[in-house]
Amino acid sequence: MSVLAPRFDSLAAARYGSPDATDASSASTRIDLQKVFGENVFGLTQMKARLPKGVYRTLLSTLQDGSPLNPGVAEAVAVSMREWAMERGATHFTHWFQPLTGATAEKHDSFLKPTGDGRAITEFSGSALVQGEPDASSFPSGGLRATFEARGYTAWDPTSPAFLIEGPGGAYLCIPTAFASWAGDALDKKTPLLRSIHALDTQARRALGLLGGEVKPVRATLGAEQEFFLVDQEFFYRRPDLMTAGRTVFGTKPPKGQEMDDHYFGSIPPRVLEYMNEVELELYKLGVPVTTRHNEVAPGQFEMAPIYEDANTAADHQQLTMSTLRRVARKYGLVCLLHEKPFQGVNGSGKHLNWSFGTDDHNMLEPGDTPHDNMKFLFFSSAVLRAVARHQDLLRVAVAHAGNDHRLGANEAPPAIMSAFLGDQLQDIFEQLAEAGEAKRSKESGLMGLGVDILPTLPKHAGDRNRTSPFAFTGNKWEFRALGSSQSISFPATVLNTIVAEAIDELCDTLEKELEGGDDLDTALQRLLGREIHKFKHVIFNGDNYSDEWVEEAERRGLLNLRNTMDALPYLVSDKNKALFEKYGVLSHRELESRYEIYVEQYFMTINIEGEGGQHMAQTMILPAAARYLSELLNTAERADDLGMKTDGIMQTARRVNDLVDQLVERLDVLAEQNQELGGDDVVSKATHMRENIIPALTAVRDVVDRLERSVPDDLWPVPNYRDMLFVK
Ligand code: ADP
Ligand code: MG
Repeated sequence: MSVLAPRFDSLAAARYGSPDATDASSASTRIDLQKVFGENVFGLTQMKARLPKGVYRTLLSTLQDGSPLNPGVAEAVAVSMREWAMERGATHFTHWFQPLTGATAEKHDSFLKPTGDGRAITEFSGSALVQGEPDASSFPSGGLRATFEARGYTAWDPTSPAFLIEGPGGAYLCIPTAFASWAGDALDKKTPLLRSIHALDTQARRALGLLGGEVKPVRATLGAEQEFFLVDQEFFYRRPDLMTAGRTVFGTKPPKGQEMDDHYFGSIPPRVLEYMNEVELELYKLGVPVTTRHNEVAPGQFEMAPIYEDANTAADHQQLTMSTLRRVARKYGLVCLLHEKPFQGVNGSGKHLNWSFGTDDHNMLEPGDTPHDNMKFLFFSSAVLRAVARHQDLLRVAVAHAGNDHRLGANEAPPAIMSAFLGDQLQDIFEQLAEAGEAKRSKESGLMGLGVDILPTLPKHAGDRNRTSPFAFTGNKWEFRALGSSQSISFPATVLNTIVAEAIDELCDTLEKELEGGDDLDTALQRLLGREIHKFKHVIFNGDNYSDEWVEEAERRGLLNLRNTMDALPYLVSDKNKALFEKYGVLSHRELESRYEIYVEQYFMTINIEGEGGQHMAQTMILPAAARYLSELLNTAERADDLGMKTDGIMQTARRVNDLVDQLVERLDVLAEQNQELGGDDVVSKATHMRENIIPALTAVRDVVDRLERSVPDDLWPVPNYRDMLFVK
């Protein structure tokens, strides 16, 4: 019997270089970066060149001060946008939005308009630019939209520029939009983000007013580092689990794994490099400022990061980065895996969200070296820490989803306990402040009022960077490291903006009172900050977040440890959080409840797919392979026995395999039974059933499958293994 294991022909087919890659690389090695950057974006330069001066000026004031958009402006913008897009070969336009699935959605409409006499003209009106009505019924709404009212609408977001996507079938114009129900409820991730940006701006400006100095618009800024795996697509198509769940539900760690640590920052393999070049080229055209790329810790794992931008644009650009990474990979015979944990036993993928806020010329979290800057810095840093201490739960919720449960707390990613890393220098400054604030020893200890001398200039990248902390101060920004690689950054950013807006608001209230009481600014501020540290110091941790001692210590400190998604999600709709989001106009109670329901449902669906897919794969691929092996062993034993040869070794092996087969069938029965049940009608009990019953049942099956993988001959094993997938480049 000669069964050629599929992975052998796939190995043969795995291309170590890509034919298309040659064209792509010759194109990209000679690109003129300056010319290419933003070439597919209808940005300010394009608008300035094409719009009548008056229209441009009105638009600019909408963009800069948020003044309402006037319909005449929309009409003029639509005309020049269409002209620009058509000159570049576009035939269609789409309102591009971010439904609550975490992906992006688009429905294309042609510019074509029949004239009724068999001919057609092209048209794109101001109203088509400003508002669209996609069929919203299949997007999750979490009860916000009754089925009889399936309509939702999209509304142009002029603050994020329109862009062109070039596809094999021609180009199309994408217009970033917000997505809402007719009742006005936000059905997307962008709307709350925009509202939170506004809330932070309002409160930060108020603080700037109190602290003295120029009061200017304050923008939240984001830069997201994206980790991902690349596997050869030949392998991908032979792994039903990768195809349906985005991760391998079975599979054992390769003999040579990341323990060698030779992959991290190693040289990028040629096919991957060519791929990355093209991804970057595509992103440059879209105006996405990606700048760094390198190998990551695990074999087959890589990272890409942009220069930070204003939060709204950065969030759109992050979505574009993920879709471009996925799309371009196919051209190189690769598949880009954005899942948090594609391979068990190998490092997972995260996304570091770098976050700060500032005016057009001053980052509020930049320590600076003048007293005036110091004062602002300390005030705003206190606000951030106050927010983190108060809303650990929300930060945890913001990163809670099924894929991330494999990482958080799994000794490779920040734990599920939310704490903040300050670094020794900043820690010291806050401690001095606390002392000075209470003991008023400021003069003697050389603390000349706030700011003067007490704050050394911090190096941009503080030396002692702690990679284990979920939320770390890294010189002039905070790095939220607990995000999963597949996640949209919009909600985590929304949470950060909102909780810090609240903290600034409250600090301003206190400061105002003290100033009214006759204190001068320095004294009032010093007292305020000195008191503040006692409110947030329990959330500061500069040690090793991976250690068991920290888990115990965190418990003593009363910090939350929400180990999985279903533990975390209920906090989203606590009274505290409902009040918070409502107060700052970010999410109404209804909108928040709907998100809770959707996130729970997504958790349920994800695990449900893994459970059913795993059952099917084990039943139809793994079990038959094991049975074949067993039959081979028994045949051999029989023939050996006929020849009077010893059969002990063969029989012992056969018995061992037989035991594993027995266990597999037994455990598969349990999984099948659990898959049959859904645990109840409401989505919370379904999701709970997944966590309580499906995950353990699937884990039990995996345990046997993985043991079989180590016993069954390579040529009988029906799916590509980790070695194939991680090391073939
Ligand atoms: P590392 O991998 O060491 O964390 P990187 O240089 O890869 O550092 O990433 C740092 C990220 O932080 C970049 O995306 C950068 O643009 C971003 N960043 C820098 N300053 C700010 C800021 N003020 N606001 C938001 N993000 C910032
Ligand atoms: Mg980082």
